[in-house]
Amino acid sequence: MAEECLFCAIVAGSVPATRVFENADVLAFADIDPQAPTHVLVVPKKHLRDIAELGADPQCAAAVVAGVRQVVAELGLEQFRTVFNTGPEVGQSVFHVHAHVLSGRAMGWPPG
Ligand code: 5GP
Ligand code: ZN
Repeated sequence: MAEECLFCAIVAGSVPATRVFENADVLAFADIDPQAPTHVLVVPKKHLRDIAELGADPQCAAAVVAGVRQVVAELGLEQFRTVFNTGPEVGQSVFHVHAHVLSGRAMGWPPG
């Protein structure tokens, strides 16, 4: 667990969150400021900073993708967007890698 990391604190249970799915490797929880009718964050329990660090750990990367699959299956989502923001310029504000899973409204492309 990284000190001062919000998502490590959510994984540890010291900061509350609405948990959607959990297994030994990943946790999925509702985003506190949803940008779509369904907005879930899927995080590895291990602290990794961003998708670059995640990609260097293929076992953990696979667990995160499998976690996304579990979330969309359990919530019955057929259409959804999955986003990994990397760096503050494109919107990363929490430096513990997370997949945003957004669904329930139309979304344009490119995202702007
Ligand atoms: P990022 O901006 O790093 O891509 O995504 C971070 C996400 O974490 C944001 O969508 C933000 O709303 C969410 N978030 C920030 N603080 C909390 C919190 O305390 N609890 C939950 N559930 N989500 C949070
Ligand atoms: Zn962390």
